[in-house]
Amino acid sequence: MESKKVLVTGGAGFVGSHLCDRLIADGHEVICLDNLFTGSKTNIAHLLAHPKFTFVERDVQMPFFVNVQWIFNLACPASPPHYQHDPVETVRTNVLGMINMLDLAKATGARVLQASTSEVYGDPLVHPQTESYWGNVNPISRRGCYDEGKRCAETLCFDYHREYGVDIRVIRIFNTYGPRMAKDDGRVVSNFILQALRGEDITVYGDGSYTRSFQFVDDLIEGMIAMMSQDGFVGPVNIGNPGEFTILELAKMVIDMTGSTSKIIHLPAVEHDPKQRKADITLAKDTLHWEPKIPLQEGLAKTITYFQSVL
Ligand code: NAD
Ligand code: UDP
Repeated sequence: MESKKVLVTGGAGFVGSHLCDRLIADGHEVICLDNLFTGSKTNIAHLLAHPKFTFVERDVQMPFFVNVQWIFNLACPASPPHYQHDPVETVRTNVLGMINMLDLAKATGARVLQASTSEVYGDPLVHPQTESYWGNVNPISRRGCYDEGKRCAETLCFDYHREYGVDIRVIRIFNTYGPRMAKDDGRVVSNFILQALRGEDITVYGDGSYTRSFQFVDDLIEGMIAMMSQDGFVGPVNIGNPGEFTILELAKMVIDMTGSTSKIIHLPAVEHDPKQRKADITLAKDTLHWEPKIPLQEGLAKTITYFQSVL
């Protein structure tokens, strides 16, 4: 593939750093923009000296001009404790950040991919979730800053596309895990693995019957590249692993795989927590010829090895 100049916002985060790795490995020139709110320079330390990699410490809420051909917009805290820490900031990052990236795409003719989320489906009444489902989101709940911020970002993408012909790509990412998740992230996979490795109680919120479909990060990166490389298809498209597990099943799997002596405890359920989530990936299979390859057990093993090395 021809080498491109690529901007990755949120490139020092968990997913963004893996994306930067892949783009550099493919021979592209990468500008990584990040304000290091939840990301870290450690995630990209191995890239900093690379001649085709540039790090820019900056807030995506500030307009930014650089002549690029591809923009991946990932800047936004993704774990519930982080995005609820300063909810107004989360909305601003989603909305102002998206406007800035779409204006940049409009000015340069770049293709822009938005990292949207399965959270646009809210607490879904349709199961599994297809892209045609409009969702069940409570705009005034504590998750609203993220869910509605991401929904508004999708609206902006499609309005810039219709009104100005901006070349957009929208993917809806389902729960993704893997090496480089932040230790203080608060998401379920990193929490459970860290608790198991430290011999602490495994904290299941509620009775553990809620479900998620968990995707290993390498599969997501493959899906992102496939979507960005595809002509004539803007999305939105689900990128996730359709394997569905209850949170209790995940807790037991992590305990078994780590050989931990940790006990499962039940804490109060989280308000407005979506009860079930499972990706329908028919559209991604048909249009992108993409599907995830890494089963949960295999991805968890790699993630456990990573957390063992950082502890
Ligand atoms: P993350 O928190 O590790 O990464 C987000 C990155 O964005 C961090 O490096 C952070 O410092 C940066 N950032 C936050 N606000 C910023 C701002 N105002 N300006 C510049 N940079 C800013 O999370 P992640 O899991 O890597 O998620 C990456 C993207 O993918 C996010 O947009 C998230 O909403 C989306 N997504 C992730 C998942 C998942 O399960 N990991 C699921 C759905 C969607
Ligand atoms: N969860 C849990 N214990 C934890 C962290 C999360 O039981 O220590 C639950 C959470 O309530 C939710 C699911 O795991 O039902 C996934 O949570 P996460 O924050 O990883 O992602 P999201 O809710 O955004 O899908």
